[in-house]
Amino acid sequence: MLRQFELVERVKSYDPDVDEEALDRAYVFAMKMHGSQKRASGDPYFSHPVEVAGILTEYKLDAASIITALLHDTIEDTAASYDDIKIMFGEEVAKLVEGVTKLSKIQLQSDQLKQAENFRKLLLAMSEDIRVLLVKLADRVHNMRTLKYHQKPEKRQRIARETLEIYAPLAERIGMQEMKNELEELSFKELYPEPYESITLRLKMLREEGNTFVEKVIAQLKEDLKDCGFETEITGREKSPYSIWRKMKRQGAPFEALCDIMAFRIIVPTIADCYHTLGIIHTKYSMIPGRYKDYISTPKPNGYKSLHTGVIGPEKHRIEIQIRTKEMHDVAEIGLAAHWRYKQGDYKTDGRQFAWLRELIDIMEQSDTSKEFLEHAKMEMYQDEVFCFSPKGDLITLPKGGTAIDFAYAVHSGLGNRCVGVKINGVIKPLKTELVNGDQIEILTSKTQTPSPEWERFAVTGKAKAAIRRFIREQKREQYLEVGREILQKAFKSEGYDYNDKSLENVTNNFQQKNVEDLIAEVGEGIVPVVDVLDAVFPGRKSNFTTRVVNVFKRSTKKINDNNQGSKKQNQINGLIPGLAYSFAKCCRPLPGDRIVGIVTTGKGVTIHRIDCSNLERFSQEPERWIDVSWNEDYISSESHVSRLRIVLENKPGSLGTLSNVIAKNQGNIANLNIIERTHTFFELSVDIEVKNVNHLSDIMAALRASPDINSVRRSQD
Ligand code: MN
Repeated sequence: MLRQFELVERVKSYDPDVDEEALDRAYVFAMKMHGSQKRASGDPYFSHPVEVAGILTEYKLDAASIITALLHDTIEDTAASYDDIKIMFGEEVAKLVEGVTKLSKIQLQSDQLKQAENFRKLLLAMSEDIRVLLVKLADRVHNMRTLKYHQKPEKRQRIARETLEIYAPLAERIGMQEMKNELEELSFKELYPEPYESITLRLKMLREEGNTFVEKVIAQLKEDLKDCGFETEITGREKSPYSIWRKMKRQGAPFEALCDIMAFRIIVPTIADCYHTLGIIHTKYSMIPGRYKDYISTPKPNGYKSLHTGVIGPEKHRIEIQIRTKEMHDVAEIGLAAHWRYKQGDYKTDGRQFAWLRELIDIMEQSDTSKEFLEHAKMEMYQDEVFCFSPKGDLITLPKGGTAIDFAYAVHSGLGNRCVGVKINGVIKPLKTELVNGDQIEILTSKTQTPSPEWERFAVTGKAKAAIRRFIREQKREQYLEVGREILQKAFKSEGYDYNDKSLENVTNNFQQKNVEDLIAEVGEGIVPVVDVLDAVFPGRKSNFTTRVVNVFKRSTKKINDNNQGSKKQNQINGLIPGLAYSFAKCCRPLPGDRIVGIVTTGKGVTIHRIDCSNLERFSQEPERWIDVSWNEDYISSESHVSRLRIVLENKPGSLGTLSNVIAKNQGNIANLNIIERTHTFFELSVDIEVKNVNHLSDIMAALRASPDINSVRRSQD
């Protein structure tokens, strides 16, 4: 196990000014917190975070990352809290540790591999700081190195598969080639032991007999380049067993037929030298068509630069050659951490500690024409999507702003149609709550629930909106059918017949209807006059039926309107059961335009709260009391609403006058005013103002804030 002083020495070797004391404190804190916990290997648990920190020193990461590595399992697995870490190590480290903890909670189920891409996106989206991801990757590297100690094969395989599908590609995306290779090799070994053994063995044999081959090729290439006028460094290497196996699978080729089991790399001083070298190689050897790639002029989205070519090389063997500068090489091997190393000059002078982080963003921004970039590279790119989990752990992707309604419909339209409430991370929330990354969503349903037309206003996905509309349309159709039959029955009776759907079978064509139900619905909706139907069914009928039918029809249509739109002209609030009394909560004082929710109170009807009212917590265990409501925008009222503001203003003559002037100028009316606190320098006031709606209030608040005597203005929440 890496010792305390060794770790500190390693960090000091690349960052001499590091806060040694903080590293020591983190080391001791982690050791104390993990106490006697043990790893599967039997080692003290504490050896794990120390090794993870050690891995990160290889990438020369900053002190905050190293400390985060030491503490990365403390929130999750020990008694330590976010606040403990914040107090001891500051907010930056606390946030990083919290970030790693969040990522650790996401576990891929084996049957979810098809969603690997979404999981990778989720991890990127949740790693708001790239250092979170780096610590998580180092954590995974160490867990893979010690995978063999887990007893259960299923567990080892699950972890290995997750590593191969999620973490290795993530490492590649941020340019950590070395890390990616190690993760792939370790997973490959676990998941496919036989091919791993056989490829490794053949590589070993090839190496033994082929040593001379690699040496001959290197010697020949050196000879070819000896007059080029710049330094060259030539190495030959075999490809990794995993990449060989993948190629064998992809090309269906046997091991022997693979041309590039051996790859050669030429490192030269400058970019111009790269192209010069390429020219010499292509003049000397035949190029294999389709193998030349210029990643210098068009770098890969992760920042990788190099020239690649395949030629029939010395000894008439097909070989791959990569040509690059030293800096390109380091970036390729250890990713963006290398940029930091190369920019240490600027880092010292401009105080930017994470120059490489800046570089990452630059690289990502530069490659924004590449489609691959859009799919793979940028951390911020997933900001237009949110990723949430079902209780079973299925991952559902929604557009940004998506609500529980969208989630329910994304799972199944039946679930959407029956949802009454939602638990987000175990707590009841309004259906219209916007979801955030990593939320676990449990939709509460009721057999008797039907979608409310209100829902369409806060659904963002086309699927949810369409399903709600379809349901409403079908529901309306059901009602039209019911009303249509009622009308027809009465009309038939007046003619002395009993009505029956079959009676209409022969007349549907007269009305250009496909079937009887369509005709009944049209009668119910009032499109086809029932008199015309009677005339068609009973040609030459005598009775004078018209007036009575019109009456029935009018009453019926009104009923439909009431059911579906609420009494638009009378109610200020949409979504309430007609006739139920409602009032506005005194705690949060909602104004027209605020997002609101209704709480049913026995004997008192419905109390309307602002959606962010802290008192709603009290009802979190009673989903049946929550009602989704919204303001009726068509409702016109002269009545004003009282809103309460907390205002801090300077204690000087005239400041109260200013306050009332500003409010009056903006058509607000002060209903009440209380001084909460008064000191030499300021007053704190609670001011009740009558306003029309939330926009009116924001205008007044903006005007107050603009006035020099006024220190702060906020809406009161008590
Ligand atoms: Mn860990």
